[in-house]
Amino acid sequence: MGRLICISNRIPLGPNPTGGLVVALADVLERTGGIWIGSAAETVENPSDTFTEIEGGKFRRLSFDLSPEDKDNYYAGYANSVLWPLFHDRTDLMEIRGEYYDAYRSVNRRLAKMLHGILRPDDRLWVHDFHLMPLAHELRLLGAKNAIGFFLHTPFPTHLAMQAMPYGAEMCKWLMRYDLVGLQVERDVVHARVGLTLLGGAEEGEGDTLRLGKESTRVVAFPIGIDAADFAKLAAEQFEMLPQGIVKPTRQMMIGVDRLDYSKGLPQRFRAFGTFLERHEDWHRHVSLLQISPPTREGVKAYDDIRDELEHLAGRINGRFADITWAPIRYIHRPIPRETLAGLYRAAHVALVTPLMDGMNLVAKEFIAAQNPDDPGVLILSRFAGAAEQMTEALMVNPHDDEQIAATMLTALTMPRSERSRRYEALMEGLLREDVHWWSERFLAALDEAALASV
Ligand code: UDP
Repeated sequence: MGRLICISNRIPLGPNPTGGLVVALADVLERTGGIWIGSAAETVENPSDTFTEIEGGKFRRLSFDLSPEDKDNYYAGYANSVLWPLFHDRTDLMEIRGEYYDAYRSVNRRLAKMLHGILRPDDRLWVHDFHLMPLAHELRLLGAKNAIGFFLHTPFPTHLAMQAMPYGAEMCKWLMRYDLVGLQVERDVVHARVGLTLLGGAEEGEGDTLRLGKESTRVVAFPIGIDAADFAKLAAEQFEMLPQGIVKPTRQMMIGVDRLDYSKGLPQRFRAFGTFLERHEDWHRHVSLLQISPPTREGVKAYDDIRDELEHLAGRINGRFADITWAPIRYIHRPIPRETLAGLYRAAHVALVTPLMDGMNLVAKEFIAAQNPDDPGVLILSRFAGAAEQMTEALMVNPHDDEQIAATMLTALTMPRSERSRRYEALMEGLLREDVHWWSERFLAALDEAALASV
């Protein structure tokens, strides 16, 4: 079997936070003599036109250089200030600039050229995420005939949002150059099929196939999972190591863990907690919210704004409700190691996963996997997280409706153990069945099939 070559914007350096993904792919990478390719952590003034080998690890890793301008225009610019807001239903936050698009195309073109230089005819390529959508197109222009699959970790935009995208029709062309386009959930498949036919002029083929001229691609949902069995073990170990006092017999803890991103619905969540406290004075001092929100993409204006808004809200809610022995919100603006999170999830009674839009949301899955099976906590989940398609036994909420979230908080905090157990068992069974290994095996099998069908 040919080598598997994975390409993502970032090269996996340590085990976190893309831990699951690397674990899932490490085996095939190792077995096939595969390679992981991603951008180097530090920018350089004059990017090299060859890869740099990164030492250590079980499989080969190669990095490519980015200049400071590439980082500003391709990464912070087109990827994070155009595509990210667009794909998360926030076209109002897009910053459209010609130099962003130019850099996006030129980084992908350069990477394709470097990649083409090391390709063997039987290599299979797996391209990850929105930073690298044009890669197959560029490789095909150079004559590559390899099987190439793409997986989008974010939601797929609606066709209306796509019309706001600079060069939206181009995106359709790029995607049609893959043998397989993997998306998180069925919602995304629906959006992709509508967008690619309406804007891209593609035609429906047999089954999940779309055709455009000579090109044909399959568009399929592959909901990403976690290594649930391992995470459950980790959580049980880490729980024992938590400092005393985290778990108080007289107080319940709700937990939220999200990068500080406008897609995560954090101000709405804080407001809903404020509403809950306003309505339920009997819960004062008996419940607190631990919100862990590490900084991300600092320097992009929309991120500075959300940070200000959240700090203001946390201050206001604590100022209004706290007393000398209790603060309702503990807000941590720093990354916490995934191991520690595992223990904290287990210590929490309720998790608040309330994004306005999310590709999957792994925190929802980690929280459930981390629970004590004898006394599990309750997951409150936004219907707009991709995870909602699989995790139907969670308490589902509309993240825009703070009255509804507040009412659901009460339901979760007072839920009898028998109902908590029933929901947990159904959710955990799903997580163990559809874990990250299931995800990667299904994707690779579909890629092989699609590549065979297209010769
Ligand atoms: N995470 C972490 N430390 C933190 C916050 C988050 O290790 O301080 C991890 C978390 O455990 C999860 C991932 O980052 O594995 C976040 O993935 P998710 O799909 O929930 O959201 P994303 O950040 O990809 O939008």
